[in-house]
Amino acid sequence: MNILVSSCLMGEKCRYDGNDNYRRLVTELSVKHTLIPVCPELLGGLSTPRNPAERKDSRVCMNDGTDVSVPFVNGAFAALEIAREHGCKMAILKAKSPSCGTGNIYDGTFSHIVTEGDGVCSEILQINRLAVFSDEQKEEIKAYLAK
Ligand code: SF4
Repeated sequence: MNILVSSCLMGEKCRYDGNDNYRRLVTELSVKHTLIPVCPELLGGLSTPRNPAERKDSRVCMNDGTDVSVPFVNGAFAALEIAREHGCKMAILKAKSPSCGTGNIYDGTFSHIVTEGDGVCSEILQINRLAVFSDEQKEEIKAYLAK
């Protein structure tokens, strides 16, 4: 199966602070599956490093107040296009990110508070019928792949 994956989970240093979010779970999946890495924020035209951003309702802003909603949406649709090109029906995305978060994201106040919600890319992928999981949903990922 082709699985869309947040690039930072595969070790790419594309996080806002120039680091990665490497997860062994993801590389283990590459034994049986083809992983398609995407970083929606870079696809949307942002660069690394960059100021941290958080989502609040339909807007995404950096911690200096810069509205980056447009690059976030553009990057989300670019990731969707890549998913379609590769026939991905499933995505595993980084938890809590304003792009990739699934189910829970930081609340937009830059105070480390997590609230219910999805990142922009996760939301757009789900609307377009991909099964989207956060990297913290190990059991759900295993159950989905076992179907
Ligand atoms: Fe990782 Fe997604 Fe943030 Fe890119 S946008 S650094 S893939 S969490």
